[in-house]
Amino acid sequence: MQNFVFHNPTKILFGAGQIAAIGPEIPTGARVLITYGGGSIIKNGTLDEVKQALAEVATVEFGGIEPNPTYETLMQAVELARREHVDFLLAVGGGSVIDGTKFIAAAIPFDGDPWEILSRQAPIRAAVPLGTVLTLPATGSEMNGAAVITRAATHDKLAFIDPSVFPRFSVLDPTKTFTLPPRQIANGIVDAFAHIAEQYLTYPADAKVQDRFAEGLLLTLIEEGPKALAEPRDEAVRANLMWTATLALNGLIGAGVPQDWATHMVGHEITALHGLDHAQTLAVVLPAMLQIRRLDKRAKLLQYAERVWNLTEGQEDERIDAAITRTRDFFESLQVPTRLSGYGIGEEAIAPLVAQLERHGMTRLGERADVDLERSRQVLELAL
Ligand code: NAP
Ligand code: FE
Repeated sequence: MQNFVFHNPTKILFGAGQIAAIGPEIPTGARVLITYGGGSIIKNGTLDEVKQALAEVATVEFGGIEPNPTYETLMQAVELARREHVDFLLAVGGGSVIDGTKFIAAAIPFDGDPWEILSRQAPIRAAVPLGTVLTLPATGSEMNGAAVITRAATHDKLAFIDPSVFPRFSVLDPTKTFTLPPRQIANGIVDAFAHIAEQYLTYPADAKVQDRFAEGLLLTLIEEGPKALAEPRDEAVRANLMWTATLALNGLIGAGVPQDWATHMVGHEITALHGLDHAQTLAVVLPAMLQIRRLDKRAKLLQYAERVWNLTEGQEDERIDAAITRTRDFFESLQVPTRLSGYGIGEEAIAPLVAQLERHGMTRLGERADVDLERSRQVLELAL
């Protein structure tokens, strides 16, 4: 196992009705900016519930944060927050609203153009504290310090990670996910699956605990994911899905192990240029990425084949093939297409995607920093 520091400061309030408990979590006397997306929380009553819980608190609202949140929209919230002297942010929504709110938190006190937080990883000296009410199990953003922001004007989708933007608290109420459309439930399962794969399918690090955690989370997604689609109001299923997605990217399974993230970085470029949902890009890239890098990942792919998919018969290469096929079939079974052609994207798209990777310095990706532009191109070709 590699050396590591693990420090996750986010307090989790889990279960039905927990929104009612957020009042005491807000600093006394704080002026709170409630941020949200395109209106799902208005339609399903979550915003009203939040406002009720904050009846004694001064609040301002900013709605309209879009999926794949944009710098352009978020800067409007930054202006509002500065004007209103806001000193706490409450994100109510999915990964996009939470990520966007992390950017707002860092941008409010930022001296200079906050885009530099993304474009050149400018140091963040201070951030406004934030909390979240999660409505979509997927990203893990509710319990990590990462955010991914898009600059629409230039088609840049870039990430930043900083301990100052860990949420102070997050409410995980599984019943708030009942109104999710099937596409978003499926997306969430695929995103969480890819997060686990990026931290588990690398090379062995003698990290037995992390491996068993990762395998347990993958098995839970495989068992509960289809049930979440088939029985949309099953609270127990949604609870398991929600906690799995959070644990998939809160630092726990990634502590002390090599991490990949090449699938995410290539996926971000597909969203930036073609507008696919984040998880759709991962469903396309992950199976091809595993196939192209199967030699480097051989030992862990064999472990994955046996422990996650119960594949113990046949030659080693056959087992690896079967495990990758099972992965693809699982995503397809959730109605998430796993080929670029499934989204109407053809060969002509590959050169511009590789050029984007180059422009963003994504030239040495993966746990061995050996996924260069040529390998990314091979992955994209295999993903056609
Ligand atoms: P999302 O973009 O936050 O939301 C997708 C859609 O789901 C929105 O249209 C939203 O509608 C709707 N929705 C959310 N909750 C709902 C509910 N309870 N009922 C009905 N509709 C609901 O999706 P996401 O997958 O959670 O986030 C994706 C973003 O996170 C991407 O930008 C991705 O790059 C990023 N990401 C971040 C991390 C990280 O570690 N920070 C990791 C992976 C991905 P409304 O807008 O109307 O609410
Ligand atoms: Fe993701």
